[in-house]
Parts: sequence; structure tokens; C-alpha cells
Amino acid sequence: MRKEFLPFTKPAINEDDIQAVTAVLRSGWITNGPKNQELEAGVCAFTGNRYGVALSSATAAMHLLLKAMEIGPGDEVITPSMTWVSIVNMIVLAGAKPVFVDVDRETLLVTPEAVRAAVTPRTRLIVPVHFAGAALDLDGIRAAAGSVPVVEDAAHALGTFYKGRHIGSTGSAIYSFHAIKNVTTGEGGMFVTDNRELADAIRLWKFHGIGMDAFDRQNRGRSPQAEVLHPGFKYNLTDICAAIGVSQLARIGEINAKRRALAMRYRELLADVPEIRPLADPVGYDFTHAWHLFVVRVDTPKIGRDAFMAELKAQNIGTGLHFRCAHLQKYYREVMGFRAGMLPATEYNSDRICSLPLFPDMQLEDVDDVVSAIKTVLAAR
Ligand SMILES: *Cc1c(COP(=O)(O)O)cnc(C)c1O
Repeated sequence: MRKEFLPFTKPAINEDDIQAVTAVLRSGWITNGPKNQELEAGVCAFTGNRYGVALSSATAAMHLLLKAMEIGPGDEVITPSMTWVSIVNMIVLAGAKPVFVDVDRETLLVTPEAVRAAVTPRTRLIVPVHFAGAALDLDGIRAAAGSVPVVEDAAHALGTFYKGRHIGSTGSAIYSFHAIKNVTTGEGGMFVTDNRELADAIRLWKFHGIGMDAFDRQNRGRSPQAEVLHPGFKYNLTDICAAIGVSQLARIGEINAKRRALAMRYRELLADVPEIRPLADPVGYDFTHAWHLFVVRVDTPKIGRDAFMAELKAQNIGTGLHFRCAHLQKYYREVMGFRAGMLPATEYNSDRICSLPLFPDMQLEDVDDVVSAIKTVLAAR
């Protein structure tokens, strides 16, 4: 057994990141300012998009997107139930109806067929997830969406390419820089798009509805008497945080390459553990995986997922759960009336998935430790 606990994840913070934060702290400008602009420009250069709006989280991006699109009561938003529940919460808080689509049982990705079947005259928006960092079938989903806008949930997908281009680059996407994501700012997010109007609207909603932020006022000579155009929120990112993101973005290639190497080792070693089934790659199109998560299904009568996670912990191996499906959580069952059986592939996975340790500072030997702990847990049954 391992002597030291191996966490499920750990942010990849290096000296450059620490120096970048220190420089901001010494600079005299610590809230949103030049580092926000650098992060927005850096992400856009990497993804190939025109506009980026840095925000305090991906959840904030979803909130402002719904506001900017004026989505509310009577409107439907299509999203998987196999997602982080904050996306669904924002839809409900906007007064709109979440319409859950089932995912592919082996990839956890939303399919064009599911989208086609779910679109109605009330559908205003579709938010599919590049789950774990694998690419959605974007061409298929856009064709199925018809005239309904698709905004990609790219929280797992910085560094995911689809048919040679970065995901989101031909549309709009929401990125998260939460502590566990491939690039982190501690907490943070970004709305990235080629749609100028949408970017401007989100920028307005982001900072009190006055159409500029503190940095604009200080540095660009705009009038401090600027008025509220409509009441907005306060979802700006500090430069203390943005600086970490800028520093990390500079080595995204390295970060994702390390994640890939670890994931390949898992695949190789788990090939002879039939009880523990990794997700499959989607087929039919060329893509590059960002390997945000290494998700497996505990698929054996020997042991359930929850006991498996507990017993791995006793072996000094941490795990995560991404995600418990949204539609069967208390509020969604009791208040909104969603029921087990509505989304069979989602529910099958929700009961069986867990995420194995995967972070850039791990070594290949750590993967060996995880798989040998898995074998120990299974052998005891
Ligand atoms: C992390 C995550 C989010 C939310 O990101 P925050 O920055 O924490 O708001 C949204 N969707 C998915 C799929 C995520 O994993």
C-alpha cells in the first residue's frame, strides 16, 4: 500500500505562477486590469476566437449568457443531466426550463440524435459538455440544432481540438478556471465567442451594467460619471487570479501532454481489469483530448461505486465523482418532478462513475499505485 495519500487532483502551481501573483500584488493594481486583458487575449489566441470576457467563474458566464440572450419563463434550454449542476441551476434560476438529453453510454457526450429529438419551438439555447476533455461531435450537434444557438460547456476542454481546430473556435464556449481545471486561476471563468454583440452584452452584465469596469475608468480615461444602462452583476475576476491563469496558459501544452501520458498509462494497465471500465473515445471524427478527467465505471456485482471509492481511500488513493446526474438530485426530483428511468445511459453512469487521480505533478508510478490498489480492493471481494 502507498505510504502517502494520493489526492484525486492537485493544482499544478509552479514558481512562475507564484512570481506572477507576487508581481501583481506589488504593482499597485490588484483587481481586474492588465492581467485580465492578457488572459482574455491569451485564451483567444489559443482557441482562435475573437472575444473573451474573463469572469469570476464559469457559472457566472452561464448566468450572464442567459441574461444576455434574455432567456426566461417559457423558454427551454437543452443540456445534459450529466454535467456540473451549476449550469442547470442557472437555467432554473432564470425561470427557464432545463430539457435534459441523455448522453452516449460509453463517452458521456451529448449526441446529435438526442439534440434533434429534444428541440422544440421553445428551445432557445443548447449547452452540451465536452465531457472530461473529449470533443463533442460539433458538426452533428450544430446540424441537429438548426437555428438554435449552441454554446459549448468547455469547462473540461481547454486544449480540446475537433477536426484540427480548437473547440469553441467557430462559435461560443464557456471555460472554467476553477481549482481543479486544466488551467486554474483559483476560481474564474471566461466566455469566449466570435459574436461581438454577445461579448459586449456579457461585458455589460458583468460589471454593474455600466459598460466598463474599474480598469477602464482608471486607465482609459472614460468618464467616472458613467451611468447604469441597466442593472448588472459584479462578476469580474481579480488580476491576482488572472495572473495565475496567464502564467499557466503559457504551459498548457506541457500540462495537457502530462495528463495524456498518465491517461494512456491508465488505459494500458486497466485493460486487464474488466470490472473497471474507462470511458471510450468518441468515434467518427478526429479530435484531441484535453484529459481533464480520467473517468471509470465500477461495473461489477463484486462492489458498488461508493464502497469502491471508500476502499480506495483506505488504500491511500483519492477519487472524485464527476458527476452525480442533476435530474435525480433532491430539488430536481421533488420540485421539478424528474424521475429515475428518464435518462437511462446518464443514470447507468451516475451510479457507477468515479474519477481516478489525474494531475500534471503525478508520476507514471502513481498510476501504477492506483491500479494496484484497485486490484487489491477487487481481490478482497
Ligand atoms: C467546473 C464546471 C463548471 C463550472 O465551473 P465554475 O468555474 O466552478 O463555475 C461548469 N460545467 C462543468 C462541466 C464543469 O466541470
